[in-house]
Amino acid sequence: MTDRTKHLVIVGQGAAGLAAALSAAEAARERGTSIQITLLEKAGEDEAGGNTRWSPSYMRMAGPDRVEPTFVGDMLAATQGRGDRAYFERLAAEAPPAAAWISSHGIEFHQPVYYLAKGPPRIQPVGGGPAIIAALVQAAKAAGVAIRYRCDARALVRAGNGIAGVEIVEHGETSTIAADAAVLTSGGFQGNGAMMREHFGAGAESMKLISPGTRFNTGDGIRMAAELGAGMSGDWAGMHSEPIDPRSGNSAPVVLVYPYGIVVDRTGRRMFDEGGGLVHETWEKFSRDIHFDAPSREVYAILDSRLFAIADYGRAIRSEVPPVQADTLEELAGKIGVDAKNLAQTIAAYNALAVGDAARFDATLCDGLAAADTLQPPKSNWARAITEPPFVAYPLIGAIAYTFGGIATNPNAEVQRDGAPIPGLYAAGEITGHFYGTAPNAVSVLRAFVFGRIAGREATAFLARA
Ligand SMILES: Cc1cc2nc3c(=O)[nH]c(=O)nc-3n(C[C@H](O)[C@H](O)[C@H](O)COP(=O)(O)OP(=O)(O)OC[C@H]3O[C@@H](n4cnc5c(N)ncnc54)[C@H](O)[C@@H]3O)c2cc1C
Repeated sequence: MTDRTKHLVIVGQGAAGLAAALSAAEAARERGTSIQITLLEKAGEDEAGGNTRWSPSYMRMAGPDRVEPTFVGDMLAATQGRGDRAYFERLAAEAPPAAAWISSHGIEFHQPVYYLAKGPPRIQPVGGGPAIIAALVQAAKAAGVAIRYRCDARALVRAGNGIAGVEIVEHGETSTIAADAAVLTSGGFQGNGAMMREHFGAGAESMKLISPGTRFNTGDGIRMAAELGAGMSGDWAGMHSEPIDPRSGNSAPVVLVYPYGIVVDRTGRRMFDEGGGLVHETWEKFSRDIHFDAPSREVYAILDSRLFAIADYGRAIRSEVPPVQADTLEELAGKIGVDAKNLAQTIAAYNALAVGDAARFDATLCDGLAAADTLQPPKSNWARAITEPPFVAYPLIGAIAYTFGGIATNPNAEVQRDGAPIPGLYAAGEITGHFYGTAPNAVSVLRAFVFGRIAGREATAFLARA
C-alpha cells in the first residue's frame, strides 16, 4: 500500500451521486484513508440535481425502519420475473439503514397520502427532492467533497483492467482528471433525442421531458461504461412516463383524475380502459399510448361536475391551469377542438353501459364499479355516467421521467464486464438497468440512495486495498 492520496471521481449530483460522495467521505474518515473525492456535475449549481431535484421522492417503505415483507416479491413481479433477485434483496436489506443515514443528515420522513389512492406504503422526505439535494450537498461539502459544476464528464481513461481518469469538458476546455476509482451516477438517456429514437422508435425524441432537471440525463455515463466493455441490463424498451397538462408551466403537471371520467382523442373516441387500475398502475402505459398512438399526441380527460365533489381531488392535479368547462358537451367539444358528434356518441354509448350502483364509487381504491362488459374499451372501475354539468376537460400529453435500459451492476454496485466487476468502477441510480416492463412504484429514489451509498463505501474499500 502506498501513502499517495487516492482519487475518487463521482459523475452526477443527484440522489445516487450525493449518497456515493458523502458515504465515501465518511467511510474514508472512519478508515483513516486519504481519498480526494470529486463530484462532477454537468449543470450549474442553481440547476444541479437532475431528476432528484424535481422529484417528490416517495420511497417504497412501510416506515423509515422497514420495507414491506412482500418487497422483493413485488419487485420481481413488477419486472415480470426478469429482475435480479440478489439486487432487490440487497435493496430491501439496505433500505432501512439508508433511511436512517439520510435522517442523520437532517432529513425527516413523513407518510403523506399518495395522490388520491391507497396502494403500497411509501415514505417521503419532508421537502422532497429539493430538501434532499440541499441537505446532502451541504453535508458533502462539509465532509470535504469537492463539487465541480458545469463540468461535463465525457470518457473514462482506461488503465489495464480498470481506470486511471475521467475526461471532462469544463469552460469549453477538454482535460483529464485522475481517478483511481469512479462512480457513475449520471442518470438515464431520456434527454438524448437520438438515443430515445434508437430505443423507442420514431417520434420518441419529441416526447416532453417531465421536469427541467430531466434534460441533463443524456446517457453519457452509459456510453462511457459501454466504451470500457461494461455489460448492460434493464429493459431498453422501458421508460417511466406520466400524463401531464400541456398548458402548464409547472414541473410534472400531472393530471391523475382521468380514471374518474373517460379519455378521448381528438376524434372523440376512447382509447383505453381509464379505470384499469390505480393511477400508478396505468399512467406509464397510458402516457405512452397518448404519445405514440393518439392523433397529434394529445388526448382529453372528460369528466362532469362530480369531479369537484371528490374529497381532496386537487391532490391528483399538479397543473395550475384550471380545466376547460362548459354547460353542454357540444360547447366543451368546441372549446377543446374535439369532434363534437363523435364525443356525443362516445359519451352516450358509455353512459348507457355505466349503469352500476354509483354509490359504490370510491376514488381512493379500485372500487369495482365497472361498466357493462360490452363496453369497448372496457372501463373496469369508477364507471359513473357523465351527466352533470358543467362538463370538464383536461388536455393530456405523455411526458417522460426516466428510461430503464442501463449499466449492469451487481449488489455491490460494481459495474460488470463479462460477468465480473470492472476494478474500481461503480454505478448507481437511474443509470443502472434492473427495471423491466414497468417501473416498480416509488423505488427509483430509494435505489439511488441505497446503491449510491453502497458504491461510495465499496469504492473507498477498493481504494484502501489498492
Ligand atoms: C417529477 C418527477 C417525479 C418523480 N417522482 C418520484 C418518486 O416520487 N419516487 C421515486 O422513486 N422516483 C421518482 N422520480 C424518479 C427519480 O426522481 C429519479 O429516477 C431519481 O431521483 C434518479 O436519481 P439519480 O441520482 O440516479 O439521477 P438524477 O437525480 O437524475 O441525477 C443525475 C445527475 O447527473 C448529472 N449528469 C448527467 N450527465 C452528466 C455528465 N456527463 N457529467 C456530469 N454530470 C452529469 C445530471 O445533471 C444530474 O444532476 C421522479 C422523477 C421526476 C422527474
